[in-house]
Amino acid sequence: MADKTKDKGNVYNITLIPGDGIGPEVTSAARRVIAAAGIVVDWEIADGGSVALEKHGTTLPDETLESIKKNKVALKGPITTPIGGGFQSVNVGLRKALDLYSNVRPVRSALGISLHHTPIDLVIFRENTEDLYSGMEYEIAPGVAQSLKIITEKASTRIAKAAFKWASEHKRKTIHAVHKANIMKKSDGLFLDSVRKVAAHYPEITYKEIIVDNCAMQLVMHPEQFDVMVLGNLYGDIISDLAAGLVGGLGVVPGANLGDDIAVFESVHGSAPDIAGKGVANPMATILSANMMLRHIGEEKAADRVQAALVLFLSEKKCLTPDLGGNATTDKMVDGIIEKINLLK
Ligand code: NAD
Repeated sequence: MADKTKDKGNVYNITLIPGDGIGPEVTSAARRVIAAAGIVVDWEIADGGSVALEKHGTTLPDETLESIKKNKVALKGPITTPIGGGFQSVNVGLRKALDLYSNVRPVRSALGISLHHTPIDLVIFRENTEDLYSGMEYEIAPGVAQSLKIITEKASTRIAKAAFKWASEHKRKTIHAVHKANIMKKSDGLFLDSVRKVAAHYPEITYKEIIVDNCAMQLVMHPEQFDVMVLGNLYGDIISDLAAGLVGGLGVVPGANLGDDIAVFESVHGSAPDIAGKGVANPMATILSANMMLRHIGEEKAADRVQAALVLFLSEKKCLTPDLGGNATTDKMVDGIIEKINLLK
């Protein structure tokens, strides 16, 4: 993968979608950190969402998709989706257009800012292309609306394969499949059947199933029992935010959208319109997403250094943004993180 993005010398060609809301603030923070870690990137800036609509007359321009297809790797800020009416989600559209079927979200309290009393180290594998995010919705009669939940064996099997492969490679012990097959017997039933077939190939991993509502309660009460989780699109979305709340909030949880040969890295959080433009967004989630990207392109040493710098920075509990209990700006927090990166040279 690294060779495909590496230009001549040590310069990487990577697509950057700044997004909107706090997106431009947190992606520029991540760019500063990557540069401080000594990784040179020729960023190809691409638009999406309302910014793109104004410039290109479409929310997801072909140029944006072509740039990612060419570079194979992108860093993305959040993009606002209008509620109720308006355009379809660009985030969902991008994942579908590039077949980024695996949404991987590590949720860890290892950085020392968890609100929970027990250590948390779980990895969410969220199916990223179907389910109730199919975009197929109809008003079938006045006062009656229908959204189609599409579950296929193909998509359920490949997210299960991604989760089990990763768990096996990383010596993880348990995988929970999260479902509501007691009620949605056909759709969630097919999801479970598909995961079970994959699980049978990994006898070394303990395979468990849990109904999504109980899962929400168990996560709050006993998060330590979860190791790797595999979920459909909607449950994965909701459970990701719940899990983020256990380890310090949306400001600290990163993510990756992975296909067979394309990867788009972005935090779990959205565009946070309530704090956009105020310069107080927590940049950690996007920095950690960028760090996942560094590992993906083979820059393990730089990623280790950034990781160590973040742990050191957070241990001092100084220069934190308001969501972490401090009163620093995004820029000040990034200054503090870069100071630690430089210390660890
Ligand atoms: P959100 O994640 O944007 O914000 C939820 C809460 O968390 C807000 O109070 C916000 O201030 C806080 N928060 C989020 N990120 C933070 C950060 N980095 N630092 C400090 N606080 C942070 O969720 P929302 O308000 O439900 O959604 C806003 C918009 O974002 C919607 O249009 C939604 O569709 C979109 N969204 C986009 C993505 C994406 O681009 N991948 C993901 C989720 C939501």
